[in-house]
Formats: sequence, structure tokens, C-alpha cells
Amino acid sequence: MKGLFWNPWHGCHKCSPGCMNCYVYYLDNIRNIDSSVVTKSKTNFNLPIKKDRSGKYKIDSGVEIATCFTSDFFIKEADLWREDAWDIIRQRKDVNFLICTKRIERFNECIPKDWNDGYDNVIIAVTCENQQKADERLPILLDINAKHKYVFVSPILEYVDLSYYLKSGKIDMVSVGGESYENARVCDFEWVKKIKHTCDKYNVLFDFHQTGSNFLMNGKKYKIKHSDEHSQAKKGMKYLK
Ligand code: SF4
Repeated sequence: MKGLFWNPWHGCHKCSPGCMNCYVYYLDNIRNIDSSVVTKSKTNFNLPIKKDRSGKYKIDSGVEIATCFTSDFFIKEADLWREDAWDIIRQRKDVNFLICTKRIERFNECIPKDWNDGYDNVIIAVTCENQQKADERLPILLDINAKHKYVFVSPILEYVDLSYYLKSGKIDMVSVGGESYENARVCDFEWVKKIKHTCDKYNVLFDFHQTGSNFLMNGKKYKIKHSDEHSQAKKGMKYLK
């Protein structure tokens, strides 16, 4: 993912096949950090409401903030801190918060009291890396109250048929991405194409956000540097028209 990140807490537990080569564990290992310990950020917990000397928010209006991408917003260890995070989200109605989770089953016990139909500035995205996880998590996503709902097929491990979920009309966008770094499993462009076709059929926005490090296209395997995964996926988008 590229863009602006807010990680109010850090650390996570592997809970799904997509977690096998988790980038948080990979990067923490290089820095000798134990990723399984979930800690509240000492310096950036209040990042979205930090102001400069003139009293202006450091983060401009209108941006999208990828929230909790080195943990999971709904992880149990963060139960004590989440209410304060919601409070920060409420204070910045002028920016959008993208919350991406593999723990959507905890959603209803983790929302604030005034959530009702959801906050206008919060997108709830569910990650499903294979058909089994899609079939477990997406019925819950369809069922919850949220103003904006995305599906992240990431890291894609196989073709995932989203027809049943997209025809509900409740999903705003699908984003597909491959797995990153040394041991990355293959991302087959044919799977990406088929998901794009399903999105077109049901008029759902589609994005291919990264190729992954191990990309298969037209029968040929490509090793992609992590720094190029995003731009290569953008190039791939033109073959998806
Ligand atoms: S849920 Fe996400 S952050 Fe947590 S271990 Fe799995 S891939 Fe890593």
C-alpha cells in the first residue's frame, strides 16, 4: 500500500493463511522487534490530530489514511485503546479512514456507541486471501452497518469468486494485491483479471494495488522489487480494460 498511514498500535497474531509471510513480521524481524507483542504507539497514537505551530492540522483535509496497517484495528489487545482512536476519528470528519481487518467477527463489539449506520469518514475493508476466507468473512461484512465497505483480496493466493457478494450491491470497491518480499507466493494475473471482470459485471470499483514480489503473467514469472510492486500493478491495470 502507498499513501498516508496511521498505526495507533503495532503488533499482531497470525490468524489466517494470508498471514504466513506477513510483512509486519518480516520487517520487524529485520529490526529485531517481536511482532506478536501488541503495543500502543508512544509517538503517533494521535497522529491525525497533531497540529503545527500555526495550529493547523499536520494532515490535510480530504486525504485517505490507511489505519492500523501494522496490526489489526479489531485485535483484542487494543480493546482498551480503541475508544480513544474512535474519538480521534470523530475529530477528523474531513479525512477518510480506511480500516482493513481480518477480524470482522469482532466488529459489533468494537464500534463506538454513536456508530449507528456508521461514520461517513470510515471505510471498513475486509481482507480475504482465498475463497474459504471470503466465504467466512464477507457474509459478516454484508451484514454489518458501515457507510463504505471494501474487499481486499490480498495477498491473493488463488482466484476468489466474489459474485455472490458483489451482486448484493453493498460492496463499494474491490482491491487486489500480491504478496511481498522474499518468500512471496505467486500472484497470477489471470486471477486478477477474472476478479476485475466480476467487478465490471456488478458495477463495483476495482483496483490492483500491487503485483506482489512473485508475479505470473502470460505464463512468465517475474520477480518484482517491493518498491516497484505498486507501479507495476498500475501498468498491469491497462491490460484489464
Ligand atoms: S492480520 Fe495482518 S498484520 Fe496481523 S499477522 Fe495477519 S497479515 Fe499480519
